Amino acid sequence: MFIINGIQKSTLIDFPKKIASIVFSQGCNFRCGYCHNPELLSLNIPKKQISTEEVFSFLKTRIEKLDGVVVTGGEPTLQSGLYDFIKEIKAMGFLVKLDSNGSNPKILEKLTEENLLDYIAMDIKAPLEKYSEITNVKINTDNIQKSINLIMESPVEYEFRTTVVKSQLSFEDFEKIGQLLKGAKRYYLQKFVASKIFDEKLMNETTYSNEEFSVICRNLRKYIQEVDFR
Ligand code: SF4
Repeated sequence: MFIINGIQKSTLIDFPKKIASIVFSQGCNFRCGYCHNPELLSLNIPKKQISTEEVFSFLKTRIEKLDGVVVTGGEPTLQSGLYDFIKEIKAMGFLVKLDSNGSNPKILEKLTEENLLDYIAMDIKAPLEKYSEITNVKINTDNIQKSINLIMESPVEYEFRTTVVKSQLSFEDFEKIGQLLKGAKRYYLQKFVASKIFDEKLMNETTYSNEEFSVICRNLRKYIQEVDFR
């Protein structure tokens, strides 16, 4: 079973250079205060659950119209049904992009080894020692490190990305993230926007200015080939 809480029929911006649909899986093991999808965090079955059959029926009508499907959440790798779900989508001929928080390297490894992914976007929440502080749960950072390593070593296209709340991450933290991602191809800093978020206490928080982001990006290019903010 793969529990789905929503589908966006098309997007031009979530799968680089592709036209895609987005499938939102239910459940996440992190509790990032800035999470924009708080309704997806609980592992309970949602009232408006969409069955995998409904998703497959819809996708059949989009063969040759869409390039791919973005599987996001929540955290899709929490659900054992992810493997079969992605396998079915690939069998229909679609490319698959997986968004993940990197907490489940075993699933990432299985999916990459079996050539079931075409793009991986992994969140980097903070330097490893600050992960629990930012995600508000106890994190096994060995798993985060393993996911980073296997993504960088796999032939699959990827990006790492960080949502940036100014008070949560200092310039020194970005230096540490640069060292963590040393040799990576692509890293994006994402501006925090105070809209619908999990922890309302963050509503008054801000992000860095464009000028500050430019400096952070320039510093990170010592470690990572392509760095930008959005
Ligand atoms: S931002 Fe991502 S990892 Fe964090 S709680 Fe939300 S869905 Fe989970």
